[in-house]
Amino acid sequence: MYSLNILHLYPDILNLYADRGNILALQYCAQKIDVSINIKYLFIGDEFPADIDLILIGGGQDQDQEHVSLDLIRHGSKIKSLVLENLPVLAVCGGYQLFGKSYQLSKKKILEGIGIFDCVSIAEPNLNHERFIGEILINAQNNLGSIIGFENHSARTYLGAQVEPFGHIVKGFGNNGVDSTEGAIFHNAIGTYLHGPILPRNIKLTYFLLNCAIKRKFGSFVELPSENDVIVDNAYNYGVNYILSK
Ligand code: GLN
Repeated sequence: MYSLNILHLYPDILNLYADRGNILALQYCAQKIDVSINIKYLFIGDEFPADIDLILIGGGQDQDQEHVSLDLIRHGSKIKSLVLENLPVLAVCGGYQLFGKSYQLSKKKILEGIGIFDCVSIAEPNLNHERFIGEILINAQNNLGSIIGFENHSARTYLGAQVEPFGHIVKGFGNNGVDSTEGAIFHNAIGTYLHGPILPRNIKLTYFLLNCAIKRKFGSFVELPSENDVIVDNAYNYGVNYILSK
C-alpha cells in the first residue's frame, strides 16, 4: 500500500472559508485508491519536517499573512527545492500570494514572498478598488477542465514570464480581473484564489495532486476509481451549472 506524508502549513492561522476541508478531501480520495496518508502540521517556529510528499497552505486575512510571512521565509529555499523536484503543492489565496515574490499591502508595506511563483500581488487599499467576491469557474491547465470555487480577495496578482496561469476565467475575476488568468502553476505547484474549499468541490484536482505525489515518490500513477462518485459528481455538476446560470 502506498503511503504519503502531507504537510499543512500554519493550519491555525491560514484557514479561511474552511480551507481545512482540502485535507478531508485528500483523506477521502486517498482511501478510495488505497493510499494511506499521514497529515503533518507546521506551526510558527517549527523545523521543516523530513519526508514530505505534498504541501498545502490556505488563505488568510492580510494581518494573518503578516503574522506568518517571516516564518515562511525561513522555509522558502527548502520548499523551492522540493517544488523543483516536482513535489505537488496547493496554495490558496493568502497562501498563494505568499508563495509569489511579494505581496504589497500598502505604499509602505511589502511582505516578501518565497518566490515559488513568478508573480506579485498588490492590495492597493488606497485606490478604493472593488473586492473580488463570488463564485468562480475556470478552465484549468493539465487537462483538468472546469474547476469551480469561491473567491474573496482584494489583492490583484500579476504573473511574470516564468510561470503559467493555473487556468483561464470563464466566470469570475481571478488574478486581477483584467487579463482573464487565474492562479499560477509551476512544476506541480498550484497557486489559486479558489476557496470553496477547492478540493472537495473538484475531486479530479484532488486525485491529480495525489497522483503527482505518488508518481514522484513511487514512480508510477495509481488507477482512479472507475465507478462514479454520485454525491461528489452531483455537487460538482450543480456548482458548474449554478455558476454558468449567473
Ligand atoms: N488577504 C488577501 C486578500 O484579500 C487574501 C484573502 C484570502 O485569503 N481570501 O487579497
